[in-house]
Amino acid sequence: MNYKEASKVLMKMQRSNEIIFRMAISHLMDVGIRHLTDENVEYTCEEIMKQDDSHSIMTNEFQCEIVRAAAKIAKIEHTLVLAYIAKNIKYDVGLEGLKTDEPMKVELKGDGYDDNGNLYYEYAYCPVCEHEYEVDYDDYDKFCRECGQALDWSEVAEN
Ligand SMILES: [Zn+2]
Repeated sequence: MNYKEASKVLMKMQRSNEIIFRMAISHLMDVGIRHLTDENVEYTCEEIMKQDDSHSIMTNEFQCEIVRAAAKIAKIEHTLVLAYIAKNIKYDVGLEGLKTDEPMKVELKGDGYDDNGNLYYEYAYCPVCEHEYEVDYDDYDKFCRECGQALDWSEVAEN
């Protein structure tokens, strides 16, 4: 699995339930990747379901969901998970602040020169999911068509 594949899986989890995703990551950090084998997860969930959750802030089902999500994340190579966290999880904002409305500059690649000898870019990539856009051929989507991140194309426009 490369970073692109890993980030797709993680992005999907993050988008389907941000809270569970974040809690799963903290759970993962707490118990350690090695302890999250499939058997352990099932055993842990069975134990969780036996608890009386009437006075708990989380239902047993919710706790199990966190454990299962953590196990899913644990299957991904941890360097990729850490890279994803560093890139896509903001610590200093509320959950609602995690929206992807703040435009991020597309990453540009290309080594061609136009007739006037100016460098031009052939490809642009979404900084979050690395979706590839062909400069000059694709529409400059305001929001990434793959992950929804708001994109800033100003550098391409100047080009
Ligand atoms: Zn994207």
